[in-house]
Amino acid sequence: VQNTKTLSKATALHVLHAIFGYQSFRQGQEDIIEAVLDGQDSLVIMATGNGKSLCYQIPALCFPGLTLVISPLISLMQDQVDQLLANGIEAGFLNSTQSYEQQQQVQNKAISGQLKLLYLSPEKVMTHSFFHFISQCQVSFIAIDEAHCVSQWGHDFRPEYSQLGGLKSCFPNAPIMALTATADQATRLDILHHLQLHEPYLYIGSFDRPNIRYTLIEKYKAMDQICRFVLDQKGKSGIVYCNSRKKVEQITENLRQKGIAAAAYHAGMENSLREKVQRAFLHDNVQVVVATIAFGMGINKSNVRFVAHFDLPRSIESYYQETGRAGRDDLPAEAVLFYDPTDYAWLQKILLEKPESQQRDIEQHKLQAMGAFAEAQTCRRLVLLNYFGEHRQNACKNCDICLDPPKKYDGLIDAQKVLSTIYRLGQRFGIYHVIAVLRGLQNQKLKEYGHDQLSVFGIGKGYSQEYWLSVIRQLIHLGLIHQNIASHSALQLAGNAREVLRGEIPLELATPRISLKISSALVKQ
Ligand code: ADP
Ligand code: ZN
Repeated sequence: VQNTKTLSKATALHVLHAIFGYQSFRQGQEDIIEAVLDGQDSLVIMATGNGKSLCYQIPALCFPGLTLVISPLISLMQDQVDQLLANGIEAGFLNSTQSYEQQQQVQNKAISGQLKLLYLSPEKVMTHSFFHFISQCQVSFIAIDEAHCVSQWGHDFRPEYSQLGGLKSCFPNAPIMALTATADQATRLDILHHLQLHEPYLYIGSFDRPNIRYTLIEKYKAMDQICRFVLDQKGKSGIVYCNSRKKVEQITENLRQKGIAAAAYHAGMENSLREKVQRAFLHDNVQVVVATIAFGMGINKSNVRFVAHFDLPRSIESYYQETGRAGRDDLPAEAVLFYDPTDYAWLQKILLEKPESQQRDIEQHKLQAMGAFAEAQTCRRLVLLNYFGEHRQNACKNCDICLDPPKKYDGLIDAQKVLSTIYRLGQRFGIYHVIAVLRGLQNQKLKEYGHDQLSVFGIGKGYSQEYWLSVIRQLIHLGLIHQNIASHSALQLAGNAREVLRGEIPLELATPRISLKISSALVKQ
């Protein structure tokens, strides 16, 4: 392969000092770079602003040949290349905004070995003319930015990205690095699979954004509530996300009537108008952008003070990505979710109308996790971090649950009822089946399995479905139940579940908030 053995930490550090003028590596950078220099593929998940670019720019300068950087955003591509050129590094880009002559010029430089880094938009790659060109270059390394775009399960799938899987077989000797700021477990696996990364080095940084306060507001008069909320922000810059163009228009109109400088943004608008809105927002000429998820990648405004979700996002991944646009300057910021459980039920219904597929299962799992976040009775930050595989013990003191805790009760008996039901069901059934058994429902599926004969059948009679849902979700958050995605989201005992079953440890739960209201109306038994 390449003379990677001679490339060392020292070289990387030298490049960091001499070319970029930085004192030391930030967390993760050194190990990532070392893995690349050893010829290893890698997946880098690192929060925005923590320094992903250096992770591939430094290896690019250590390797003898050319480094390809795939990046979906033309404006950011230009910025990066300008910065590199300013640091005296030979870099160029190829995208659809350039004339034929400009592209030829860049290609000739790459072929003659003058370029160290070549930025490409994904639709440029994997075409016939691209292969003709690239076969004349010596490619040492490939970096794929915003790699979550490769996953249909992710929050921003881009069809052009699905072509990139071919890169591995075209350049078997060049290590590939996939980079993204947000990817949950399913998306991570999908990225590795689609890009065909070989025994990759994984770097997963912290997902915590301590300056963002997570709050949930239950919807009852939603339009009034959102207007009031924005008025209370007193001119601070923010984004309101909702899930349809029509609602975008309505909310914008309502906010304007209240004297708020609001602008709409969605994919149905002319490109030029969208750009205008984005610019006005960046320059604080518009206070609030009301948008669909089309308002996203590439928005780099540091002083966004709030992100409000008028509708429930489809996944924690999207929610995290969207709320993450608040407080980039590390000053306090708000992430507010306006929630109505029927929004969840609605999304669930739409999903279940799709034909059964692995895709649907994954989407359902993601939606359920989002619902669990919304109905969390424990610190929301812990739920969020836990979802991304980051396990912490201490509540954050900066979310609505921590600041206004729900009432607690001795939940040992409830927990034992749930855990023993899961156990009796052989740890092979999902949430709703477990609840049906607990509540002693007489449905066909239960009878077919003979579950109406189990000793646990009906031990949770008298409480509503919502009540048990809340209890089970809390037990999931507490790590006592594992929801196995690989097996139809079956509930399984985890952590200290056996100690709880034997009554060896105390267990506090939060009194389910929504359910009590509903249960008095619903429980007829
Ligand atoms: P990301 O792509 O992860 O959002 P960037 O690569 O744009 O982040 O880096 C964010 C900022 O941090 C840039 O200004 C970059 O120069 C700076 N930076 C990155 N690594 C270091 C370092 N080791 N020391 C000092 N500054 C760094
Ligand atoms: Zn908290």
